[in-house]
Amino acid sequence: MRPDIKGIGGYIPSSFIDWEGHVSAVLFFRGCNFRCPFCHNGPMVMGQLPDLNEELIVEHIRSRKDFLDGVVISGGEPTLDPNRLKVLLSRFKDIGLPIKLDTNGSNPMVIEELLSRRLVDAIAMDVKAPWGKYDLLCGCTVDTNLLQRSLSLLLHLDLEVEIRTAFVPALMNYDDLSIIQSYLVENVRWVIQCFRPGNAMDETLKRTKEPEREVLREKFPSAIIR
Ligand code: SF4
Repeated sequence: MRPDIKGIGGYIPSSFIDWEGHVSAVLFFRGCNFRCPFCHNGPMVMGQLPDLNEELIVEHIRSRKDFLDGVVISGGEPTLDPNRLKVLLSRFKDIGLPIKLDTNGSNPMVIEELLSRRLVDAIAMDVKAPWGKYDLLCGCTVDTNLLQRSLSLLLHLDLEVEIRTAFVPALMNYDDLSIIQSYLVENVRWVIQCFRPGNAMDETLKRTKEPEREVLREKFPSAIIR
């Protein structure tokens, strides 16, 4: 990640899809420490979107708090700027809104601190691949020990947790999904997100095929196919 890529690069005032059962405001942090070739948020990851005015966004959310069920903090990877993140989450807590964090799981120390300070009410973490294939799916060298620490922490939490896997047929197969499933505990909410080639950060992936949803439903009946 380039250290100068920080700040908020996107804001959705009302979303019905980023936190199940919630009408949420969504903030997207710029920058990411991964370079997943299938990422559909390239401009956010690469810092190609301007840094939005945080004060205006917080005040806009404050003015609409009675119409919102919560705030989703997404990215990019929000935990790369932990001090800014903690201040922002504290402000939303002061407003009285629950918070969901989307993370790639690479900063377990930050996640632990946010949990211990009760700054998040729900977490969605990506498990993108079997640990041995992570570098391929993330486009960089990944310390999977950190991811495993985050996952272990989340799987034993009394909190709303969602584990997400983007299924990219050109880079992984159904056996890979089975391995990922073996990392999880029973009853955890596992979402398999169907890769959409047209939005991929990597040009070559744009010409590859989409997942077959029906096959995924058959093979992984306990997963949510999105
Ligand atoms: S998919 Fe997520 S972790 Fe991967 S590059 Fe995009 S924002 Fe970062």
